[in-house]
Amino acid sequence: MSPTYGNVFMVVAPSGAGKSSLVSALLKQDPSISLSISCTTRAPRPGEADGREYRFVSQDEFMRLRDQDALLEWAEVHGNYYGTPRDRIDEATRLGRDVLLEIDWQGARQVRQRFPSAIGIFILPPSIEELEARLKARGQDEPQVIARRLLAAGGEIAHAPECEYVIINQEFSVALLQLVQIVSAARLRFSSQAVRHAQLFSQLGISAPH
Ligand code: 5GP
Repeated sequence: MSPTYGNVFMVVAPSGAGKSSLVSALLKQDPSISLSISCTTRAPRPGEADGREYRFVSQDEFMRLRDQDALLEWAEVHGNYYGTPRDRIDEATRLGRDVLLEIDWQGARQVRQRFPSAIGIFILPPSIEELEARLKARGQDEPQVIARRLLAAGGEIAHAPECEYVIINQEFSVALLQLVQIVSAARLRFSSQAVRHAQLFSQLGISAPH
């Protein structure tokens, strides 16, 4: 594969940790990051639009995409299927653009197989009580759905050690700043800088590390 300096960021969190709000605030600040729009068989929530939050597809359509190898990764989460379309990610990284995926731990593992230097960022709630309060306050899901998601939160959190970075989302503005800092740090990695500034590196006689 030709060298690329496009970073692949994977933001992982249990439902209710504030992941989507943090990601949309990050993208507002930095529109150069391309957001991956997942496919899902889950029904849209009020206010969600097809092609914006997700591509909402039937189970048959999802399986067709999966069987055509059009998904970079896929997983069953909370009884629904979710998957990352491959084309957008491949194109973004090929063009040297950063791309961000909001996925669960199962998906993150699969993405690492294709992009070993993908950067995992786990968003934690400040406490389990706060997580429950946030899920209820969202008011978009049925009580039994909330109960299932709370139960699943423990399972998701158990995979936090698989991520390079952890943000505790207590104060939104602090968490957002930390997310911005992680993105900045990733862009300054030797491997990214060496490709982005290949001419300068060569002029200065800097070669790749052994
Ligand atoms: P929600 O239904 O609340 O939007 O998302 C439920 C869970 O599915 C979240 O943990 C979210 O990160 C995960 N998810 C969303 N899109 C994808 C995807 O494309 N692949 C995988 N593996 N998980 C996803």
